[in-house]
Amino acid sequence: MKVKNHILGFPRIGLNRELKFAQEKYWNGEITKKDLLFVGKMLRKRHWKQQYKNGIDYISVGDFSWYDQVLNISMMLGNIPKRHTQKNIIDLNTLFLVARGCAPFRKPTFASEMTKWFNTNYHYIVPEFTKNQIFKYSWNQLLDEVDESLSLGYNIKPILLGPLTYLWLGKVKGENFNRITLLKRILPIYQYVLNELKKRNINWVQIDEPILSFDLPEIWKNSFVYAYNELNNYTNIMLTTYFGKVDHNLEIIKKLPIQGIHFDLISGKYNLSNLINFFSKDILFSFGVINGRNIWSSDLFKWFNILKPILKKRYFWIGPSCSFLHIPIDLSEENLLENDIKNWFSFAIQKCKELKLLSDSLNKNNVKKIEKYSKKIISHNISDKVHKIDVENRLKNLKKKDFKRKNIYKIRKKIQKNKFNFPLLPTTTIGSFPQTNKIRKLRLDYKTGKINSKYYNKKISKYIKKVIKIQEKLGVDVLVHGEPERNDMVEYFGENMNGFIFTKNGWVQSYGSRCVKPPIIIGDVYRKKPITIKWSKFSQSLTKKPIKGMLTGPVTILCWSFLREDIKKSIISKQIALALRDEVSDLEKSGIKIIQIDEPALREGLPLRKKNWDKYLSWSVDSFRLMSSGVKDSTQIHTHMCYCEFNDIMKSISDLDADVITIETSRSEMDLLEYFKEFNYPNDIGPGVYDIHSPNIPTIQFIESLIKKAINYISVKKLWINPDCGLKTRTFEESILGIKNMIQATKNFRKIL
Ligand code: GLN
Ligand code: ZN
Repeated sequence: MKVKNHILGFPRIGLNRELKFAQEKYWNGEITKKDLLFVGKMLRKRHWKQQYKNGIDYISVGDFSWYDQVLNISMMLGNIPKRHTQKNIIDLNTLFLVARGCAPFRKPTFASEMTKWFNTNYHYIVPEFTKNQIFKYSWNQLLDEVDESLSLGYNIKPILLGPLTYLWLGKVKGENFNRITLLKRILPIYQYVLNELKKRNINWVQIDEPILSFDLPEIWKNSFVYAYNELNNYTNIMLTTYFGKVDHNLEIIKKLPIQGIHFDLISGKYNLSNLINFFSKDILFSFGVINGRNIWSSDLFKWFNILKPILKKRYFWIGPSCSFLHIPIDLSEENLLENDIKNWFSFAIQKCKELKLLSDSLNKNNVKKIEKYSKKIISHNISDKVHKIDVENRLKNLKKKDFKRKNIYKIRKKIQKNKFNFPLLPTTTIGSFPQTNKIRKLRLDYKTGKINSKYYNKKISKYIKKVIKIQEKLGVDVLVHGEPERNDMVEYFGENMNGFIFTKNGWVQSYGSRCVKPPIIIGDVYRKKPITIKWSKFSQSLTKKPIKGMLTGPVTILCWSFLREDIKKSIISKQIALALRDEVSDLEKSGIKIIQIDEPALREGLPLRKKNWDKYLSWSVDSFRLMSSGVKDSTQIHTHMCYCEFNDIMKSISDLDADVITIETSRSEMDLLEYFKEFNYPNDIGPGVYDIHSPNIPTIQFIESLIKKAINYISVKKLWINPDCGLKTRTFEESILGIKNMIQATKNFRKIL
């Protein structure tokens, strides 16, 4: 028997983000449903072919989605919130309505929540569960795609998100109950699908249960056994775990009547021979040895030496640690990278090739090619682009006081109160204003040299003037400049720091049609020159009201970049913090009185297992404080966070000791506030009252209801009023209407209070 290779999923967005552009055109009514479906079909066909051509033995089917893979399962199970089942049909527009709160031919309503997919920067649509809910098979996408791929003659392995992980990721709405009780009701639909796969002679199905890397409550563990007994006897199940070690749940996994298990050997070290001895002889192992979440070439030589001895005992599969959803598609597009640097990387297609090379070498017992391949790793380690002695020394010489503001918050609050004299319930926005096509084109034209800096600066100034005028007219208390010069909150800073490099086309899906192009940190980080001072100063010169200097925090830059793997994350994080501490200090010197440090990714970097949280939180909080603590007491530090559940890390969030935090809450209807019942958050806080991720404009009444809710939990003296996040995805029209209502609601409250 031979070692076989497979992957756990391929990026669906397309090399040139074809899916994104087609989705957006469809939403805007520029193309028909038929056109959209065609683009999807073309992409699937292309991606299957790429896997096949590059030597993958089992082609992945089921990784495609029109928005999100968790939403695929909600559709399959007919789990559509009542407000989204209009006209009693479940179709593609329903899917978009759930995800976005609006869709062609549907009445707008509020979208389902969206949150981070484990500890990645991908966001999924949170399933909603109600008591005694009925499920009904409602979406044939997977089986259609299986038929589509079979008709093209591929040897396929369908992919399904497992029932336990699906339930875990969802949220109960209305009357409270334990959602695990719904398991019995969804299993028949999984059985139906597995039976259909069996009818089609599918040999293996991949079922993803990444929650196995969590600490699971007893009832969930037992439910695993129950569920997989129900799913037995259809088609062989390759149960995949990823994003973390599952050694604490091995006893449970052993009890499952499954035929294969995939282990992510990148996120955790296992003793492979112990692992093999632990399970029965019939289990097929799949070893995830290629990092599915990072873009470095793999040390195939190392894996060859680890896996070769195993092969004497057992036959197995090899694969990536997790789906390639989290990396770009093709390195060969990157013709702007210097060759020696480019050589260090490998994207989805290159990683397929790595798998093929490794499986071939194991099967032929030939190490030559692999040895040569692994030289790439050495060439990074010894490159002079990597180590900067000054940076390393500065880090070593840090003192305790570098991590602390001069005085405690209480004292600072008084000083700041006198200085700013804000009204009750001060209003602000999060930073960005609409990123119009015009402004995007302007940046691109500037970057590619089509326009000169004089013209570019003139246009950016014009935008900033406009944004400030709008805010003054609407009566916002703390203004922003709108961030027109930034295409991305991480890329912008990375571009101005040493140690980062950028790809031309390295897009990764973040959610729905949104993609990001993460920078790659290849070496020690330091600031080359001031980054934001010029535009901040200019903006402040236009108004008497305070302008927020707008920076991205070290943890977010870290989480949203591809990281080097030769030093610890905590070190990279502090290097970034030090570089940006200088920026904070320069902003202060240039007359900026309020500085916001965005840390939307703080929560997302949290390790999956609780036992590892403290260590992470300690260095991430330290990094934030290192960046923010050099200022005077009178300088007000804001921070902003969005898109996740913050309740369980509120203690660390308050340890950041930011004077003000603005935080996402409106999609979850302020569930977050529950937390403040028990915990008295010490500093000022602005729970978002305007969901900017939906094109719907919140009414004054709706915002009032949210403010009212907030006042029940937070003292009015601490409360700020702001949207959920930056306005960059909205139009000017929407933003103005939204802020206007927000301000009116605030004014109404000021009168009563
Ligand atoms: N200041 C950024 C903006 O307004 C924050 C973005 C974010 O939190 N993701 O766009
Ligand atoms: Zn945000």
